[in-house]
Amino acid sequence: MEINIINFNTTIGVKKPRTIQGIANTIDCPFCDVEHLVNIIDTDDNIILLKNKYNVMEPSDQLVLIETDQCKSDIPDYPKEQMRRVIHMGVKHWIEMLNCGKYRSVIFFKNFGPMSGGTIQHPHMQLVGYPELDPELMFDPVEFEGLKIYERQGVELNTSTNPRIGFSEYNLVLHDEAYAGLETEQAALTPREESLNLLADLIKETVTFMKNYFKRPNFSYNLFFYNVEKQMRVKIMPRFATPPMYVGYNIHLRPTSIPSFAENLKNHLKEQGYFQ
Ligand SMILES: [Zn+2]
Repeated sequence: MEINIINFNTTIGVKKPRTIQGIANTIDCPFCDVEHLVNIIDTDDNIILLKNKYNVMEPSDQLVLIETDQCKSDIPDYPKEQMRRVIHMGVKHWIEMLNCGKYRSVIFFKNFGPMSGGTIQHPHMQLVGYPELDPELMFDPVEFEGLKIYERQGVELNTSTNPRIGFSEYNLVLHDEAYAGLETEQAALTPREESLNLLADLIKETVTFMKNYFKRPNFSYNLFFYNVEKQMRVKIMPRFATPPMYVGYNIHLRPTSIPSFAENLKNHLKEQGYFQ
């Protein structure tokens, strides 16, 4: 089986501060201490993109996108405009890294909560450029297929019928319409403004829905962005203990409740006025 494997520098890893409840080793949040942030690449009001101080994967270039100055907040708390600005900043730099020629693959993702694999509670996303890793080994296109919940402006929201791991996973799939009128060369993944705004809105709605649906303390999730033949895909994944069937044997679990997951999120969007 062909796989991507990369060195994780444990000497750097042990120095990382952790502020997530249950695994915390400090009460001082490094992302609140804005005055001492270094290697800043870009800012937009309280949104800051900078080099990750703990570049543990080698070889790679790791960046951090601090989403807000509100340490204890999360995506559902953001005003719509904040969410859109975060996505615009992240996607802009992700695409720049993909196009710069230095990396064979670039990943863009978010960890939130103790089950997500994250270490810092302060809301942030991450960008990592890998000079060597093969993007073809990072996903199977079938994992973005699913039961459609909503579609407008070339942005489709669905529930995975072929989950990467198991249980409920939501996908945002950008179709040709999201790139209509843009020249292919210039576009290179960048969708139209209104489609990118809708993508940001739907991420916010889906995360808000999940947090209400899976009522549990420390609810955790990941967002994963993908470049699939120059079109964007986003996976929104609630995180629980990873099923042993998957960890031990690579068996993916497809829940029988997919139609009701889809229906419940659809109802949430209806309440928010998305079907008017
Ligand atoms: Zn903080």
